Amino acid sequence: MTIQILPPRLANQIAAGEVVERPSSVVKELIENSIDAGATRIDIDIDKGGAKLIRIRDNGSGVEKDQLGLALSRHATSKLATLDDLEAIDSLGFRGEALASISSVSRLTFTSRTKAQSEAWQAYAEGRDMQVQIKPAAHPIGTTVEVIDLFFNTPARRKFLRTDKTEFNHIDELVKRIALSRFDLQITLKHNGKVIRSYRPASTLEQQERRVASITSNNFMANCMALNCEHDDIKLWGWVGLPHDNAPMDVQYSYVNGRMMRDKLINHALRQAYEEATGIAAPPAYVLFIEVSVREVDVNVHPAKHEVRFHQARLVHDFIFQGVFKAISEGISPSMPAAEL
Ligand code: ADP
Ligand code: MG
Repeated sequence: MTIQILPPRLANQIAAGEVVERPSSVVKELIENSIDAGATRIDIDIDKGGAKLIRIRDNGSGVEKDQLGLALSRHATSKLATLDDLEAIDSLGFRGEALASISSVSRLTFTSRTKAQSEAWQAYAEGRDMQVQIKPAAHPIGTTVEVIDLFFNTPARRKFLRTDKTEFNHIDELVKRIALSRFDLQITLKHNGKVIRSYRPASTLEQQERRVASITSNNFMANCMALNCEHDDIKLWGWVGLPHDNAPMDVQYSYVNGRMMRDKLINHALRQAYEEATGIAAPPAYVLFIEVSVREVDVNVHPAKHEVRFHQARLVHDFIFQGVFKAISEGISPSMPAAEL
């Protein structure tokens, strides 16, 4: 038996197995990079469910020419430098793996221009060693990442892609989730050249509620309670659905510090609060934002970062429970003040 070090492309393809499950996972990583780069506008173009083309253009900070090679390399990130940073992550990314992984299983180009540069540069990684090539390009300040022929060189993965329609639906759902997480973002989503979603920045509460209604349903917005509570340095705000006929079952959006979550602790608190307030043993519909100090959560739990761990889990659970219980109790019997908690 001979032990050998894997060539970079192969190592990256193996790592890609963890984060790049399907086209929507690519879109997620790229949009998160745009948000981390301070973009206020993100345009997403998809062809054939993302298997043919995923193109994300942003007006963020861009990457300097001499950093482009690093941006496409594994374990290269501008978001984290020390172990202490890892304990207090305030960006969506930090693993430095997405671009290297994605470019190992597709034909990826990264075109970028910073404010300090008068011209743009385009980078792509080639061959077993993923040597990064760079050439001049035309681009305004910001970045465009193009991912063509996803999984073209990993047939086993390509085989698992569903129909264009199904893959696009995953992307659409993701874009809706992100549009809810950042009301200040302007986002457009096109599929095969056709505009499917277009959100303008929503700064007032009214504009935000309009965005929530368009993403969830008018039905949800018409039958929900807005909530906004704060205790020490934890904050909970958003909307939670009241019981009514045709209450939507699939409106379940929760965010921790702007990061979308599927979190057991949050779900449990919501379910329990809803059941105690209404007698209905089901989770409510909700769009909820939890904000805590970045030191209170560990986001480095899952490669795709779907989960978090709260250091003071009990406290967070009870805080969510109380906020939601109070809002729903007030919503179902508005004339009676909710029982003191
Ligand atoms: P991570 O996001 O975990 O740092 P990525 O592989 O996703 O890792 O990105 C590597 C680096 O490339 C980032 O840390 C960032 O510096 C740079 N980068 C990626 N996408 C963009 C973008 N859209 N705009 C500006 N910089 C970017
Ligand atoms: Mg990233």
